Amino acid sequence: MRRCAWCGAPFAVTTGPGRPRRYCRPSHRQRAYEARREAARRGIGPNEVVISRHAWDALRDALYRLEAAAEDVAVDLTGGKATKRDYVEAIAHLTSAVRDLQSIAVEPHAVGGPPPAGG
Ligand SMILES: [Zn+2]
Repeated sequence: MRRCAWCGAPFAVTTGPGRPRRYCRPSHRQRAYEARREAARRGIGPNEVVISRHAWDALRDALYRLEAAAEDVAVDLTGGKATKRDYVEAIAHLTSAVRDLQSIAVEPHAVGGPPPAGG
């Protein structure tokens, strides 16, 4: 299994002639190409990525909620008196925060850097 260099989804590696695939589907290879081209057009550096303000705000907010949930859980489970029910509720609280984060679609407009080896 490899992970798609665009969306991060795992995909099965096929053996055969040519370079190993880096993308789960041709459209993701195309989007990565377009994002690199846009980065070159904008002069985006090799370690820079351009995402929308909406995606940035959503990511930052979801990360904050996850951090707060982790702190809540740490407090709730400290002291050695937590019950099984407390643990179940803690996991549900954390899972909810993780799902919020997973629901955010972040698709970069531009990704700096050279084209990856293997297309
Ligand atoms: Zn993909």
